[in-house]
Amino acid sequence: MKKINLHTHTIYCDGKNTAEEMIVSAIEKGFDVLGFSGHSYMSYDESYCMSLSDTRKYRSEIPRLAEKYKSDITVLCGIEQDYYSYAPALGYDYIIGSLHAFYNSKVDDYLCVDADAGMLAKFIDEIYGGDAYALAEDYFKAETFVVEQTGCDIIGHFDLLTKFNEHLHAFDESHPRYVAAVDNALSHLLAKNAIFEINTGAMSKGYRSKPYPSESILRKINAGGGKIIISSDSHAADTLDYAFEDALVLAAACGFDSIMTIGDDLRFTEVPL
Ligand SMILES: [Zn+2]
Ligand SMILES: [Zn+2]
Repeated sequence: MKKINLHTHTIYCDGKNTAEEMIVSAIEKGFDVLGFSGHSYMSYDESYCMSLSDTRKYRSEIPRLAEKYKSDITVLCGIEQDYYSYAPALGYDYIIGSLHAFYNSKVDDYLCVDADAGMLAKFIDEIYGGDAYALAEDYFKAETFVVEQTGCDIIGHFDLLTKFNEHLHAFDESHPRYVAAVDNALSHLLAKNAIFEINTGAMSKGYRSKPYPSESILRKINAGGGKIIISSDSHAADTLDYAFEDALVLAAACGFDSIMTIGDDLRFTEVPL
């Protein structure tokens, strides 16, 4: 099986290392394919995405580096397209579609579930009157349409709203309202043929002991015929393959007997697990 990772960030957005440092590390770690997925530009929050001018530099530097290192590794130029990015993601090797915040019409604002536990707790208390499941319902209602919104090949961190849940315990993920919200989103997304990622990013940052999505969601994806790909959502050169072995074991435990990878023709292809 090829060693690949398509979900990585650099200093063009909120990563710690340059693209070249990431490539050198990937070669040292024995990767066959490294894909970059810089955060697409979002006018509502410029704090962690690529600026418009950096997006242009990113799009010229990654292919240049791909050429420079082509005898050692295949380098792809993708994008992590935010749900609310206005500009369509055109001309990239692949698209990861991600919901980091969802729009709440009551407060006319975007509620970020990715920032910190205190902010999430504040949203639940102050905007949802303590009803965490109402927030979860709104999150998954938006997530339902991530493929239409972003045109993605890969659905990024499907249940990102649980990033802090191991410590915050905001949601009981077996609660009927939470399960119904998940099931509604999944039933729509599974018909779209996008690939779900098993994402170890929150593990490398110390927030979670398991990848996204949860084991029960992965079992449902498998039961519904969904495909998976493993990525680290790495923001640093030393975490490119963080917990990949754990993710493979988890995938097998959830019933998957194959996994998606990048073939020699640079298209997505399925290989046995
Ligand atoms: Zn993301
Ligand atoms: Zn990411």
